[in-house]
Amino acid sequence: MLLHACCGPCSLEPVRLLREAGTEPVIYYANSNIQPEEEYARRLETLAFWAQDEALEVIEGAYDSQAWEASVGRIGEAAREKHGVIIHEASNDPLTKEAPEGTPDEAEAARRARCRACYRLRFEETARYAAEHGFESIGTTLSVSPYQYTGIIREELERAAAQAGVEARFADYRPYYDNATTRSREAGMYRQNYCACRFSEEEARVEREMRKIARKATKESLRAQKAQAQAAEEKARAESRAEKAAYADKQARKRAILKQLREQK
Ligand code: SF4
Repeated sequence: MLLHACCGPCSLEPVRLLREAGTEPVIYYANSNIQPEEEYARRLETLAFWAQDEALEVIEGAYDSQAWEASVGRIGEAAREKHGVIIHEASNDPLTKEAPEGTPDEAEAARRARCRACYRLRFEETARYAAEHGFESIGTTLSVSPYQYTGIIREELERAAAQAGVEARFADYRPYYDNATTRSREAGMYRQNYCACRFSEEEARVEREMRKIARKATKESLRAQKAQAQAAEEKARAESRAEKAAYADKQARKRAILKQLREQK
């Protein structure tokens, strides 16, 4: 099996699961989408370093950012011009973070189309290489990430495999995302904070900023609620003090009247 891999952290769990199921994959690093080139090299280095320890073979595809720009970049540029930076809706649950299929939102559809073209380019390259070098099947580690379009990844993997005459072995690895995160952190692996292309770098930056603003607003609202609760408590305490004082005053007056009456007898 030729396993298309986007990076080291995303390869951890698919390789473990495949090996447990009795398949020994060969990793294929075909990622002309990664920008800048230093980032491409850094992700490859992280992957290769880990793979060496695991006795896994890694094959590097051609890094052709011009080809990526000519197809995917063109689509992304048109979408960027029309919609600006396209951001996903915020969600706290990574497993539901994928934008819903069939969304009427035009900007989201444009981002989806860009990513579809990006998957297509990389999977076609993977499938071609697999067919030419005697691999029976292809798979991908892209479906580890809950931030990707899992449904489209599956469609494009199957499409590319059928075209090249190999088997598509798609698996939804999103339930293993947390494991992958923990394992890669423990292993001290480099973990990128954006998908790969220049559009995603900008989108991730804006999304991070928006999450920061949302966190700040939540914190401020909690602080205001706490202050309100403290003020209400303080008011209740003051009322109780006033009530006690009024009662004590009344009792003192009562005692004074009784004393006066006793003295008059
Ligand atoms: S966001 Fe990721 S999948 Fe989508 S076009 Fe950019 S690099 Fe490709």
